[in-house]
Amino acid sequence: MRILTGIQSSGRPHLGNILGAILPALELSKKSGNESFLFIADLHTLTSLKDGASIRANTLSIAAAWLACGLDTQHTYFYRQSKLAPYHTELLWYLSCVTPFPMLANAHSFKDKSNKLADVNAGLFTYPVLQAADILLYDANLIPVGKDQRQHIEMTRDMAGVINRIAQKDIFVIPEAEISEHVMTIPGIDGQKMSKSLNNYIDVFLPEKDLLKQIKKIVTDTTPLEDPKIPDEDITFKLYQLIASPEDVAQMRVNYLQGGYGYGHAKQALFEAILLYFKDAREKFKFYMNNENEIIKKLEEGEARVKPIAEATIQRVREIFQF
Ligand code: ATP
Ligand code: MG
Repeated sequence: MRILTGIQSSGRPHLGNILGAILPALELSKKSGNESFLFIADLHTLTSLKDGASIRANTLSIAAAWLACGLDTQHTYFYRQSKLAPYHTELLWYLSCVTPFPMLANAHSFKDKSNKLADVNAGLFTYPVLQAADILLYDANLIPVGKDQRQHIEMTRDMAGVINRIAQKDIFVIPEAEISEHVMTIPGIDGQKMSKSLNNYIDVFLPEKDLLKQIKKIVTDTTPLEDPKIPDEDITFKLYQLIASPEDVAQMRVNYLQGGYGYGHAKQALFEAILLYFKDAREKFKFYMNNENEIIKKLEEGEARVKPIAEATIQRVREIFQF
C-alpha cells in the first residue's frame, strides 16, 4: 500500500495538522508492507503566501514537526514538492484539461477560502488539480487527510478515472481517502476550522508562555464561572477531548455540567494536557529547529529517491498523448 500526504508551508504546523494528518500518516507508515510519501506542499503555499523567506521558514518548521512526531526517513519518502516541480506542474496541466470547470467552482474548500481570503487567485482555484497531481504522480493508494480534504480526494479519483479511460488502460491508481472519524475537523481558537491561513491555530511547539497565551485566546461564551456549561459546545472542551485521557475528559465533562468550573480552569487543563501529550515531540522539534542542516539533508535524500518515480509516471502520461 502506498500512503501519501502533504502539508503546506503556509504557516507553522498546528494541532489540526498534527492530529488530522501527521500522526495518522505516521501510524499507517509503520504498518509493514506500506510505503509512505510524506511531503511539504510548498508549491501549494504560493496560493496564499509569496514571501520566499517566510515560505522557507515555514517549510523548515513543518519538516521539523514531521520529524519530531516520529517520521523515519529510512523507511519513508520525505520531500519538498517544489524540488520536483517540473513533474508536479506538468501533470497538473494534463489533469486540468480533463477537469470540468464547475467541479472546481463548486469545491467546498475553494468556496470557503474565496469567501474569507483577500487574494483569490487562479492557483487557489486549481489547487485540487495540483493536489491530484501530487497523489497520482506517486501511484498512492491511501491518503490520510483531515475531513476538509474529502472532496479533493473524490476529485482526484474522477481525474484519474478520466485519464485511464482516455488511455484505455490503468495509467493511474485510483486513491482512497483515509479519514480518522475520531479526529474529524479540529476547530481553531475562533471555532472555525483550524487553519494556518486563518491564523486561528494552536501551535503546540511554542515556548510554554506563548502557548498558554494562545490557549487563553480560545473563544468562549459568557456563562459565569458558577453556572453549569455545555461541554460539547465549547471549543476548549472539544480540543481537550482529543488529547486528554478518557478519565480526565469524563472529569472535565462533570465539572462543566456541575458549574463552579470556569473556562479559565479548562484552558489551564488543556495547556497541561498539550504539554504532556507533546512532551517528547516538543523536545525533538527544538532540536531540529536548531539543526536546520539535518532537516535539509534528510529532505534532499528523499527528493533524490522520489525523482525516478515521478519521472516514470510522467513518461507514462506523455505517451498517451504521443508527446
Ligand atoms: P491552509 O490554511 O494554508 O490551507 P491548513 O492549516 O488547512 O493550511 P493544510 O496544509 O491545508 O493545512 O493541510 C494539511 C493537512 O492537515 C491536511 O491533511 C488537512 O486535512 C489537515 N488539516 C488541516 N487543518 C485541519 C483541521 N482543522 N482538522 C483536521 N485536519 C486538518
Ligand atoms: Mg488547508
